[in-house]
Amino acid sequence: MEYVYLPLEQEKIQKKGWIEVVCGSMFSGKTEELIRRLKRAEFAKQDIVVFKPRLDVRYSVSEVKTHNGCAVDSHAVDRSSDMLKHAEHAQVVGIDEAQFFDSELPMVLSELANQGKRVIAAGLDMDYLGRPFGVMPNLIAMAEFVTKVHAICLHCGDLALHSHRTTKSKKLVELGETDIYQPLCRQCFVKARAQNVANLK
Ligand code: ZN
Repeated sequence: MEYVYLPLEQEKIQKKGWIEVVCGSMFSGKTEELIRRLKRAEFAKQDIVVFKPRLDVRYSVSEVKTHNGCAVDSHAVDRSSDMLKHAEHAQVVGIDEAQFFDSELPMVLSELANQGKRVIAAGLDMDYLGRPFGVMPNLIAMAEFVTKVHAICLHCGDLALHSHRTTKSKKLVELGETDIYQPLCRQCFVKARAQNVANLK
């Protein structure tokens, strides 16, 4: 997996805030990358605070955790505006599962960046049908730095950008993702969607 490293000067500027977005499909390592950046800020003795939407109860109510168990403490919040009061002391603000937040998220994160904070948001950029996910396009447009990370296609081994759902549910949010989502490349996703449509007839 290749990651884009920010130049050192950008990480050291304290007074100026900015927004970083880490986006990609399921299993692309978004949360690992978010945690990597947050841990580095912690090593640099910066105050960090981490938020996630309250609906993401997969693993833990008080931590942002990856599939392989790496974790940082986090606040589960109902609305993006709740972050403003919880982030007052923080120099670095992390957000996981950003795609599930309400439409105010870009404005809230802008406000935090305007206050001089470094904001790092990780989220799914597309839903299981390949549509831009919720507030993510706006967030990406308003960010200084965007990193798209990729999973590996389960069918052919190429870079995957889609999160293909293997169940028939039309619900946008599905918990317990490991068994019902597959990372697929563009071509394999198109084939799998066509197969799904054929199976429904
Ligand atoms: Zn493929």
